Amino acid sequence: MTDLLLAGIDPGWSKADPASLLEDWRERLSRLEPLDAEVAAATATHGEVIAGAGDPAALTLAHAAALGRERGALTRALGELPNLPLERRKTRGRALNEAKRLLSDLEAAKRLALERAAENRAGLDVTIPGRRPWVGRRHVLGQIFDELLDLFHGLGYSVYTSPEIEHDEYNFGKLNFPPDHPARDAHDTYFVSDQILLRTHTSPGWVRAMEERRPPLRLVFPGRVYRAEQVDASHMDQFHQIDGLYVDRDVSMADLKSTLNTFARSLYGGSVRTRLVPIYFPFVEPGAQMDVSCVICGGSGRLEREGRRRCSVCKGSGWLEVLGAGLVHPNVFRAVGYDPEQWTGFAFGMGIERIAMLRYGIPEIRLFLENDVRFLRQF
Ligand SMILES: [Zn+2]
Repeated sequence: MTDLLLAGIDPGWSKADPASLLEDWRERLSRLEPLDAEVAAATATHGEVIAGAGDPAALTLAHAAALGRERGALTRALGELPNLPLERRKTRGRALNEAKRLLSDLEAAKRLALERAAENRAGLDVTIPGRRPWVGRRHVLGQIFDELLDLFHGLGYSVYTSPEIEHDEYNFGKLNFPPDHPARDAHDTYFVSDQILLRTHTSPGWVRAMEERRPPLRLVFPGRVYRAEQVDASHMDQFHQIDGLYVDRDVSMADLKSTLNTFARSLYGGSVRTRLVPIYFPFVEPGAQMDVSCVICGGSGRLEREGRRRCSVCKGSGWLEVLGAGLVHPNVFRAVGYDPEQWTGFAFGMGIERIAMLRYGIPEIRLFLENDVRFLRQF
C-alpha cells in the first residue's frame, strides 16, 4: 500500500524540509500518525518533494504526483476506499482528506516562496545595468560664457559685472550717443522711467569701470541685455553679450586685430580666416565689424557635398559677422575723465546666442529660453 501511495514520485527529485515553509507542518503531520501511519509516512515524503521543488514547473509535477485529479497517489487511494473494510475505510478516509489539505497548503506556501525568490533575484541581478541618476549640466550659453571667460582670462582680462537696470546716461550719453541721435533708434529700449532703462548692451560697464579705476585696464563685461524687439526666430527681447575693453598708452588697431584673431582661432578653429569691415558705432572711432570665414561651408559660400548648393548659414557670402569692435572714441574717454591725448584703447562686443547658433547650427533663438531639456541636453 505504501508503494501505491508513493507512486508517481521520481527518485531523482530533490527534497527539502516542509517545516521551513509551513509553520504547523510537524504538528499536523503528527496528528495523522495515529490515524493512519502509512498515509502519514507517504504524506511526509510527498511534502519533502513539494518543498524541494526548484521552480514552478517542478512544483507542478510534485503536486500532481500527490494530488493530481487522475494519477495523484492520494487521489487514487481515495478511489480505493470502497474496497476496504468499513472500520479501515473511515480512518483512512479521514487521514487522506487531512493529508490532502496539508499538502495543498504546503504547495501554496511553496509557490509563494518561489515567486518571492524570483522577484528578489530580479531585484538583485548584478548583471542588469545600473540606473544612472539624471545629472544636469551647464546651459549651452553658460558653457560658451565659461569658454570665453577662460580664453580672455588667458589674455590677461578680468571680469567686471555691472547692473542690468541702468541710467540712460551710462547706457547712451557717456558712450557718445547724444540726445535724439538716430543711433539710439537702433536700440529699441525698455524704459523703466525717464532716465532709467534696461541696458541695451553690456557697454555701460566700460563707463562704470573707467570711472572707478585708472588705466591700464583689461576687462571683459559679460551679461544679459534687453531690447524691445518683436520676438521671432532670430530676435529675442533679452539676450546675452560680452564686451571687452583694453585701455593703455599707444593702443592701435593692430593690437585689436591680433586680439580678435586669437579669439576667432580659439573659438572657430585654427584655419578660420577673419576680416575687419568698417562700420559705425557711436562709442568707437574707427569702428569695425569682424567677420570670420563661414564655419559651415569653409568660406566658399557653397556646400560641395550637396551639389554646390548655396550655404544657407552665410547666405552664399562665405563670411559670418561675429562681433563689433573699434578704438575707444575720444568723447567716451572725456566723459569718464580720461585724457584722450594720453590714453588709447580698443573695445569689442559680441552676442553669445549668435556664437552658439553659428557653432551648433541652432536655427531658433527662442530655444535658449524655453528650458526644454530635450534641447538643452544636446550640448
Ligand atoms: Zn557658409
